[in-house]
Amino acid sequence: MCASHVIIGDGIAGASAAETVREADPDADITVVTEEGEALYNRILIKEFAKGKLPEAPVSIHDPEWYDERDIELRLDTVVTDVETDAHEIHTHGGDVIEYDKLLIATGGTPIQLPVENSDAEGIHHFWTFEDARAIKESAANAETGVVVGAGLLGIDLAAICGAQDVDAHYLMRGQSWWRYALSQDGAGIIHDALEEIGVTPVFDSGVDRFETDESGHVTAAVDPNGERFEADFAGVAIGLDFNIEFIQNTDIETDNGIITDEYMRTNAEDVYAAGDITQFHDVILGDRAQNGAWGSAKEQGSIAGQNMVADAPEAEFQWVSSYSITHFDFPFLSFGHPTRGDDSVEHKYEDGTWRRVALKDGRVIGGVLIGDLSAQSVLKKLARKQIDVSDRTDLLLEQGVDIEAFEPATAN
Ligand SMILES: Cc1cc2nc3c(=O)[nH]c(=O)nc-3n(C[C@H](O)[C@H](O)[C@H](O)COP(=O)(O)OP(=O)(O)OC[C@H]3O[C@@H](n4cnc5c(N)ncnc54)[C@H](O)[C@@H]3O)c2cc1C
Repeated sequence: MCASHVIIGDGIAGASAAETVREADPDADITVVTEEGEALYNRILIKEFAKGKLPEAPVSIHDPEWYDERDIELRLDTVVTDVETDAHEIHTHGGDVIEYDKLLIATGGTPIQLPVENSDAEGIHHFWTFEDARAIKESAANAETGVVVGAGLLGIDLAAICGAQDVDAHYLMRGQSWWRYALSQDGAGIIHDALEEIGVTPVFDSGVDRFETDESGHVTAAVDPNGERFEADFAGVAIGLDFNIEFIQNTDIETDNGIITDEYMRTNAEDVYAAGDITQFHDVILGDRAQNGAWGSAKEQGSIAGQNMVADAPEAEFQWVSSYSITHFDFPFLSFGHPTRGDDSVEHKYEDGTWRRVALKDGRVIGGVLIGDLSAQSVLKKLARKQIDVSDRTDLLLEQGVDIEAFEPATAN
């Protein structure tokens, strides 16, 4: 009898798992179930689409024929409402029951709405799906003024969309700087200047206390906790994700702001795996539990899960230093690993205006941020991957031409 593999979610983690399972087992039954009405597309590129810089076609990755050709059953517009791990079955909103031998949960997250008055008004957008991007593109194109809330990697996409669509926008941030958990004032200052250059004004020690609307329920302004009012007929909110685990609440699958897995992407429930943004996985490099929110990491986790789903015993281990780049400005930006964690960090702003910060834990590189000059990325990621103790040579991490050989004797010891 053929093994039956059921995958919930057709994002990059789920789709990559389906592809991996098919390559490893030509006879397996594979079903991919997704709430969305379209097959896998490039979530990274939807911001370029929303800026008005890219047509729809290049954003799409797979069309339904891709699944047909591989004999993978794709169920679009289908919400999974329940999982019964003892019976090895999932239930859908339409009342269908699908049995599995191996189940993968790759359901990612859903943007959190601001808990303030009028936060569901028309013209206020959250950003996760291609559908969101279509609405954002149209709304921004028709807007004259805007606000953006959420001083992180998704918030800056919304700010860049405002810049590209000529929306006169204010970027309301809590605290004194953008992404204050990963960047110092020196590093964030480069981003603040770049935002100003694209026509977006950063506002610090701010946020949203309430939105104002017109009679038709369309947003007209945001009022911050200091009582300052910012006119806005467009608003973009990116304050974090709620992870999509409500359909497993009746199971014993262990969760903690996501689904807990080991390094093989196995959950605590027999034959149930998880991959992508949804996972709180055991990070063998960090030696701790971690969660990534990056495309490459989700793709690799899907592939690792797929390999282990078809194997008799777990074979593939997730060992990965993730990276995330920003391409909105005329200089490059890259964060890698876990830049907001660790017990120490070193950083430097160089005379040419570039900046680097490296996060350390127990004397080992675990992440960092590079602005303007990314040439050190491969050495720093290699140091992280190899878990080399750099505690007595942290100054070398900041040399512009950082050299892996300078650290290699330590590996031999
Ligand atoms: C605008 C934007 C820009 C980004 N830019 C970058 C970038 O530059 N670099 C980078 O590395 N990463 C970037 N990311 C993050 C990256 O896209 C994600 O980390 C990655 O897509 C996560 O993939 P995933 O498969 O884990 O989850 P998702 O892509 O979120 O897929 C989960 C799927 O599961 C479905 N689903 C959820 N619940 C159910 C249910 N109950 N039943 C059925 N289906 C369900 C969802 O509808 C969704 O289709 C960006 C994300 C966004 C939104």
